[in-house]
Amino acid sequence: MAGVQIDGLEKKFGNLRVLKGIDLDIRDGEFVSFLGPSGCGKTTLLRSIAGLEDINGGQVVLGGQPISKLPPAKRDIAMVFQNYALYPHMNVYKNLSFGLSLNGVPKAEIEERVLNAARILQITELLKRRPKQLSGGQRQRVAIGRAIVRDPKLFLLDEPLSNLDAGLRVTMRVELANLHKRLGVTMIYVTHDQVEAMTLSDRVVVLDQGKVAQFGTPLELFYAPQNLFVASFIGSPKMNFLDVAAQAAGDKQLKVSADDLFRDITIALETSPANVAGPHKLGIRPDNIELVTQDEAHMSGQVMLVERLGTESQVHIRLDNGEDFVAIARGTHPAATGDHVFLKFPAQHCHIFNGEGQAYPR
Ligand code: ATP
Repeated sequence: MAGVQIDGLEKKFGNLRVLKGIDLDIRDGEFVSFLGPSGCGKTTLLRSIAGLEDINGGQVVLGGQPISKLPPAKRDIAMVFQNYALYPHMNVYKNLSFGLSLNGVPKAEIEERVLNAARILQITELLKRRPKQLSGGQRQRVAIGRAIVRDPKLFLLDEPLSNLDAGLRVTMRVELANLHKRLGVTMIYVTHDQVEAMTLSDRVVVLDQGKVAQFGTPLELFYAPQNLFVASFIGSPKMNFLDVAAQAAGDKQLKVSADDLFRDITIALETSPANVAGPHKLGIRPDNIELVTQDEAHMSGQVMLVERLGTESQVHIRLDNGEDFVAIARGTHPAATGDHVFLKFPAQHCHIFNGEGQAYPR
């Protein structure tokens, strides 16, 4: 069993507190991504797990064993970097076998492990080539192969696809997913690409300025973001937000209101709200907005632009209160620039955030 527990992990660079008490419980065999904007601490967290950074507090436990005090080589973790870090003067076979030779693994076993990894990654024909005779995707496979031959308890991958062109990224993404399924080993993947994180991962850690904003399945992050940060970070086009006020309205219900331009919405919650004072935000995803007739509408606005994407149209609307919203309508929807349109925000799709940016559980 090789799950990863991270307890209260702290990391500073000088006075800069980069990781601020990270707690995570990653299950054995899980594929987990660290996702977040540039500088939020993804790579630092990965390197701290690998032992490439000295941490300032907390601990990392791998397969039940505390590893924070072990040097990187003793952690039984393999890391795949963005830039592949292949040895240019060695052929692929040597690149794959080098680490094993250093560790004194018998020659016959090295050959077996290298050939097995090459077979899994379909690079057997490339074993005699040097890195410069390989394509980007092939190089990336060799880098992953170097991790596979070690048969580690944990794979750490730091933006391994970011140097590949768009088409190859998609192919390699599928290959990585298959590889994970086949090896069944715990993998942690760093990316700032939410499509990659959402499609590959069992669960995703969204990081915001050195803290865990949410740790959940891709669907949980999308449909039940716990705070404004996750709500605005996940999803493309982005969730729309509106300033509103809230008041408790009977058992487990919240009434959301704004100015005269907005028709009140009553929203069912999981529990009765305790404190609803202060400014709130209503969030609604573009594909949940319905363009309706005036009598059903919560707000209205003017169409500024319609982007026709085939199966859908992205309708950019300036609401009557001056806010800009995006709604997704069907591809053939007749909305045109300059039209006055009426928008419905179905209550079951509204996300409500309190003054601290925390969502009310629905
Ligand atoms: P990106 O997506 O841009 O790679 P990231 O989320 O991986 O970003 P990190 O590389 O972990 O972010 O960096 C987190 C913060 O720590 C940033 O503010 C960065 O400038 C800082 N930082 C990282 N490494 C060092 C270092 N060796 N010395 C000083 N500051 C560092």
